[in-house]
Amino acid sequence: MVNKDKVIQVIGSISDVIIENSERLNDLDRAIGDADHGINMKRGFEKVKVTLDSTDFTDITHAFKTVGMTLLTTVGGASGPLYATAFLKFADQCKDVSEIDAQVYENMLGAAIEGIKKRGKSDAGCKTMLDVWIPYYDTLKKEQEGGADLNDALATSLQAAKEGFEYSKTIIATKGRASYLGERSLGHGDPGAASTVLILQSFTDMLQEG
Ligand code: ADP
Ligand code: MG
Repeated sequence: MVNKDKVIQVIGSISDVIIENSERLNDLDRAIGDADHGINMKRGFEKVKVTLDSTDFTDITHAFKTVGMTLLTTVGGASGPLYATAFLKFADQCKDVSEIDAQVYENMLGAAIEGIKKRGKSDAGCKTMLDVWIPYYDTLKKEQEGGADLNDALATSLQAAKEGFEYSKTIIATKGRASYLGERSLGHGDPGAASTVLILQSFTDMLQEG
């Protein structure tokens, strides 16, 4: 079970891994965008870290909401409002919840995906972060419905997320800045898909450690 302290810990881990990988995210964005995805995300998560250290969170919802609002005001770019939406949706799903279990986690992911789709007017197959979020979520749901052990289901889902990033290399971007490139976006992985893998990796670790 994942309580408030674990959630605060995972937010810290996500922040660290995004900051560590910012150059790689810039490089991916350099190929099909404007080379700032790492800069944007680093700026956001550095601020999240400062806020984590200075805030006494009342509950899980408060923690996720704070992350969402911080990302909204600091990340910028197309990805800022989309990641902000994801964390604000997580917050909604954790109202009155003292621990995140498998069902709550599924609800969080489902709500985040709906929010990103709506805000980005996009869906799977557009070469965006959704090409990682959606297979991760769909796989988790399917594995859980099939009665898989949670740790196994999470491992399979993370694999599906990584495959989603690989898949993003094989398609033409139809949303976001990369869509300006048309066919020239082929062969390059989507930067937002890469940052989503990092975030979902941290969440997966958190749930697996339970
Ligand atoms: P910008 O494109 O404004 O420079 P970033 O570089 O920070 O912003 O983020 C780019 C990422 O945002 C893309 O790689 C993609 O994953 C994501 N993205 C952009 N537009 C959309 C959209 N409409 N729906 C979903 N994700 C999107
Ligand atoms: Mg960019």
